[in-house]
Amino acid sequence: MILGVIADDHTGATDVASMLVRSGLRTVQIIGVPTDITEAGDVDAVVIALKSRTIPADAAIEQSLAALRWLQQRGVQRFYFKYCSTFDSTPQGNIGPVADALMQALGTHYCIACPAFPENQRTIFKGHLFVGELLLSDSGMRNHPLTPMTDANLVRVLQAQSRSKVGLLSHLQVAKGAEALGQLVRQKIAEAEKETSGVIDIADAITNDDLMVLGHALADLPLVTAGSGLALGLAAAYIARGLVKADAHAAQLPATKGRAVVISGSCSVATNAQVKHWISSGKPAIKIDAREIAGGQPVAQQVLAWHAQQKDTCLIYATSPPEEVAALQKAFGANALGEQIEHCFAQIAQGLVAQEVRRLVVAGGETSGAVVNALGVQSLKIGETIDPGVPWTSGQLGKPLMASPTPVLLALKSGNFGSEDFFSKALAMKGAQSA
Ligand code: ADP
Repeated sequence: MILGVIADDHTGATDVASMLVRSGLRTVQIIGVPTDITEAGDVDAVVIALKSRTIPADAAIEQSLAALRWLQQRGVQRFYFKYCSTFDSTPQGNIGPVADALMQALGTHYCIACPAFPENQRTIFKGHLFVGELLLSDSGMRNHPLTPMTDANLVRVLQAQSRSKVGLLSHLQVAKGAEALGQLVRQKIAEAEKETSGVIDIADAITNDDLMVLGHALADLPLVTAGSGLALGLAAAYIARGLVKADAHAAQLPATKGRAVVISGSCSVATNAQVKHWISSGKPAIKIDAREIAGGQPVAQQVLAWHAQQKDTCLIYATSPPEEVAALQKAFGANALGEQIEHCFAQIAQGLVAQEVRRLVVAGGETSGAVVNALGVQSLKIGETIDPGVPWTSGQLGKPLMASPTPVLLALKSGNFGSEDFFSKALAMKGAQSA
């Protein structure tokens, strides 16, 4: 294994894993710090998906270090701390504290921070992060409910949450090319050794070419911290150096036999449009009534009985437009109702497996988490991309459902991802057909 990635949330983990697969690295994503899993299998990269973005910094450090130890015990020597391309964090962390802790654990005094992802309109110039044409602080991220980003100057943002000295690897330096930058980085490492607390440089990048230069210049560092973009540059550098061989079949998943289903618990704008698109094309669908769930009715059993009668691939959804969600949340409480609906989907997913369903498209970050847990899936091999940031994946149905591991294909889509025809597009892909 050439690379171990520690990601601060699940969909972000899938995103970086997709980047690695796209570059030809066989990649597995493990959900949470592995406890039961002893080996990742024959792969080039492992991404450990944590949920550490907004938890207290101490807990985020503890989980990240546990993930690091697990990877180290399996011989990994290069590490990548993955966060969001909009640098989602608060003045308390967790990007700075986790980066500091990983540096200390690895005994390294220098690393970079580079959330740039030019393909997705995230660019960094003179340490300032842009989202499209806007500075981060003028983008929608300024109103984020958990991690409002009100300063685009990442040197300042990171310095406020890190005990390392935060500096800049400017675009002028990146533009000199991989060799000159590599030399500069070696100098910076030597200087950083003299600092007691280490140095983290924000790395400018405005194009994919910049990420390639950075990848080549940074390929030997024990630790980088970045969004998913830098994975492209690093993977290319590893392949160019012969550290790993690009595998043309990196995205190939095991053929899986069984029925398919779409489950949707996301109420985002994109998902509402996707559900509408499915229904208007005349495909079978059943809506879960949130009021019946809140009233304690056996909704999961009813839905499963309906599904057992269907021949074609069905959509099972709770997705509702904003006005309806607001009214339901007012009546039953947002968190309580959300959890009840997730629990219902978890029961449905288990029942569907008993009906020979082995291919699931799931919409909603939390909903996906609930389904994956209910199915006992602990790790996902990353396959072909359906829409940016959303690949097909394959896992093994585990305890408590199956006595022995059984393969299942999963496409896990967080709220606002995917085109209107995402569900049918995902199901129509060659690798998603029943074997
Ligand atoms: P997203 O990725 O769009 O944020 P999530 O699955 O993470 O989607 O979150 C959606 C939340 O809304 C879940 O907790 C889900 O159970 C809940 N939910 C789904 N349908 C409804 C509904 N009709 N009314 C209220 N909450 C709902």
